[in-house]
Amino acid sequence: FLPRVVASLEQVEETYIMVKPDGVQRGLVGEIISRFEKKGFKLTGLKLFQCPKELAEEHYKDLNAKPFFPKLIDYITSGPVVCMAWEGDGVVASARKLIGSTNPLQAEPGTIRGDLAVQTGRNVVHGSDSPENGKREIGLWFKDGELCQWTPAQASWLRE
Ligand code: GDP
Ligand code: MG
Repeated sequence: FLPRVVASLEQVEETYIMVKPDGVQRGLVGEIISRFEKKGFKLTGLKLFQCPKELAEEHYKDLNAKPFFPKLIDYITSGPVVCMAWEGDGVVASARKLIGSTNPLQAEPGTIRGDLAVQTGRNVVHGSDSPENGKREIGLWFKDGELCQWTPAQASWLRE
């Protein structure tokens, strides 16, 4: 019991990853989840969700002065998204690398956006840009009780 409490008090790095409505409509959910799964990160939250406008606006509040903001909110609320919480050392920066550049035409082949998307306004996936935003966004998109703490069977084969 005690080691678990201590472990939960440690600052574990987390990121919020979301398959955007185009990724869901295009049948890319499994493909996108599998990239993070194969890398070796730990999934702690997962749900299909129709995002209300207010939540989209809160999630992207730092961009609310941008000319594309109304289109961005329409896009994110245009259909269900797949919300995910992933955990691991360096998961925020590593997930951003797996995702690739914001503009899919500049994203390297091998990245999710580089392989699966062509336009910034339809770039199939979101990933938090800092550990602080990872925690903030997971708090925004998930309720208490929707996240699972567990130990993957492969843990000792991923980290020495
Ligand atoms: P990200 O962190 O790589 O997702 O990029 P940003 O945080 O800069 O932007 C958030 C999201 O807003 C992007 O993923 C795009 O979906 C959208 N976005 C950013 N820039 C533009 C733009 O110039 N035009 C349009 N239509 N959407 C944009
Ligand atoms: Mg961003």
